[in-house]
Amino acid sequence: AFQWIGFIGLGNMGSHMANNLIKAGYRLVVHDINDATVQMFSEKGAIAAKSPLEVSELAEVVITMLPSAKAVSDVYMGKNGLLSKRDNLRPFLLIDASTVDPKTSCTISTFSRQCSLAEGRFEGFDHPIVLDSPVSGGVVGAQAGSLTFMVGGIEDGCKAAEPLLSCMGKNILYCGASGTGSAAKICNNLALAVSMAGVSEALSLGQKLGINAHTLTKIFNTSSSRCWSSDTYNPVPGVMKGVPASREYNGGFSCQLMKKDLELAVAAANENNALTPLAVQVKNMYGEMCEGGNGGKDFSSIFKLIYRGSSE
Ligand code: NAD
Repeated sequence: AFQWIGFIGLGNMGSHMANNLIKAGYRLVVHDINDATVQMFSEKGAIAAKSPLEVSELAEVVITMLPSAKAVSDVYMGKNGLLSKRDNLRPFLLIDASTVDPKTSCTISTFSRQCSLAEGRFEGFDHPIVLDSPVSGGVVGAQAGSLTFMVGGIEDGCKAAEPLLSCMGKNILYCGASGTGSAAKICNNLALAVSMAGVSEALSLGQKLGINAHTLTKIFNTSSSRCWSSDTYNPVPGVMKGVPASREYNGGFSCQLMKKDLELAVAAANENNALTPLAVQVKNMYGEMCEGGNGGKDFSSIFKLIYRGSSE
């Protein structure tokens, strides 16, 4: 088994994931540009590292959970990055759980193939393995250890990562070559954003035609439009208990993050001559939510934008 696990990016998601590794008995080396959160983990017994390079000098396996493709590229390939030493690297497995575009994942994986491992680190490989392994399940799933991981990269690397990932998640799905995990994630969120907007539009129109949202939801959920956005995360205030719509769209998955994921999808589509007309439309609607000062609200608040005709 692994000796030391590096963890970089201890934010809303990463801090819970790192806690679950500690609970499972792993020893951590942590790094974040936010000193306060690093301090919190060193009080729990983790080693605090000043840079990604320092993490890679101590850890056998590294997990990253960062906000953007730029942060991920810097942490892996930048000055004092995880792979910046290039030769005789200690970590044989690096797992990026951030949501980024497939191209960034592929670039980092290609870079890693030009690096070398300290001798005998991982049977059959002379270079470190980088996996793109974004997650679904949100902060609640991160806390409960019930995330879904979508893994792209060398399959033996995915097998080696399994014991570790299963401390943080329930489902580990191997997708294929580098970049396919990131592709799966942005496609999932594209479908989710469009379904949330579609359900919101229908529930808005229905109410304006005189059908109450509870009744219409019941009909959806026993009919062909039933989906997660209607039966698990309904966007109309008061229709379901315990969802963001019923607490003024606070908590949950923000419009800001959904906008970011749709931008990644649209950019990837443009680079690959794929059409995503619905993603473009919904991305602009999330842009409107953010411009209206509601970027921090849960993404189901797109219902409000449609129902009222403004994000106010
Ligand atoms: P967050 O902003 O709460 O956390 C990011 C952490 O990374 C912060 O602690 C920040 O200080 C640190 N950081 C930023 N740049 C850094 C750098 N260069 N070096 C070291 N540390 C750095 O974000 P989050 O909500 O935890 O999300 C992380 C990733 O997970 C994102 O890619 C997001 O899209 C994805 N994701 C989030 C959710 C969710 O519900 N929040 C769900 C699924 C996937």
